[in-house]
Amino acid sequence: MQNSFDNPMPDEKGYFGDYGGSFIPPELQAIMDDIDAAYREIRQDPQFIKQLTELYQHYVGRPSPVFHAKNLSAKYGADIYLKREDLNHTGAHKINHCLGEALLAKKMGKAKIIAETGAGQHGVALATAAALVGLECDIYMGEVDIAKEHPNVVRMHILGAKVIPATHGRKTLKEAVDAAFEAYLQDPISQLYAIGSVVGPHPFPMMVRDFQSIIGNEARQQMQAQTGGLPDHVVACVGGGSNAMGIFTAFLNDSQVALHGVEPSGRCLEEEGEHAASITKGQPGVMHGFKSYMLQDAGGEPQEVYSVASGLDYPSVGPQHAYLKDAGRVNYHPISDKEAIDAFFELSRTEGIIPAIESAHAIAQAIKLAGQVDGKILVNLSGRGDKDIDFVVDNYGADYGINR
Ligand SMILES: *Cc1c(COP(=O)(O)O)cnc(C)c1O
Repeated sequence: MQNSFDNPMPDEKGYFGDYGGSFIPPELQAIMDDIDAAYREIRQDPQFIKQLTELYQHYVGRPSPVFHAKNLSAKYGADIYLKREDLNHTGAHKINHCLGEALLAKKMGKAKIIAETGAGQHGVALATAAALVGLECDIYMGEVDIAKEHPNVVRMHILGAKVIPATHGRKTLKEAVDAAFEAYLQDPISQLYAIGSVVGPHPFPMMVRDFQSIIGNEARQQMQAQTGGLPDHVVACVGGGSNAMGIFTAFLNDSQVALHGVEPSGRCLEEEGEHAASITKGQPGVMHGFKSYMLQDAGGEPQEVYSVASGLDYPSVGPQHAYLKDAGRVNYHPISDKEAIDAFFELSRTEGIIPAIESAHAIAQAIKLAGQVDGKILVNLSGRGDKDIDFVVDNYGADYGINR
């Protein structure tokens, strides 16, 4: 079972139809071209593929199981299956592409891998991969987030990464992106900027998708082996869109399989700053080096976005999702904070699985679908909820009978 390194999209310049491409300063373009060339070479290199496959197996713990959630299925009237990315080493799907990016950096002779992080999930996964592969690792993080996400900051330190605070502006994710970008511009030769989802300039949307495609390739075979056929519906949450592209890619050519992306409608879908539904509410535009659907304010700047799931609050979405939306191949649905928190407790209490709040958005959509359709629903459970338990209990516990 392997990644899909052979895919008709994007084109040579990194376009998925109208979307994607590369909108960056010329000095960075040369570097992206280098990364693209190096990636095209290694993805055909049997040695690289063997190395990555072995790490997936013996380090990450792949293949992750597909679990038939029988209690949830009986309660809601459709067969719900969970692809258990929450069982991966480090607890989510992000390790799949971080290992790929770290191996690529190593092959390219880089000394250091850098990235920004918001809640710290990408930072921890990348610091893990860097420790394993033998690279230095700098993680840029807003000062406000550093205070808020203490356990992940500690993890990164233990793993040997440097956490560099972004101290300007609102001191959160956007400022961390600025700081990481600035550091990258100063030395793009000895460092590789490891983007954390299927976003950014070409080749990252393609590369991160390819590394994540193992999820769908495994799940497709597991569903066939366990149920005798393909699922009727596949559901995944969409922040930047990497876990969703990871599971969708294997099913894109199966027209009988309906695909569902789930965006966070936060507190209110109708109010700017209260959601992060980039496809449902966004318009085509350019930011962070690529063209896609995005939420922009009147001045063309990225809108403030919000979701209870910090992994989903990004004002844009990977360009292949924009393409699949226009092509009508994937349906995108909004799920609110409230619906996600309900699903968080529902999965915990019916199946004994505490999901990440991000993944709980996909569970909520699967429960809705189960009331509307028959057949088999496969949900990508992108991560586990350990990181979220204190927040959930402090903010919502009383509604679910938990007193602290
Ligand atoms: C980061 C994260 C996401 C969102 O990222 P995508 O690129 O949209 O997949 C979803 N689930 C979990 C558990 C995450 O950590």
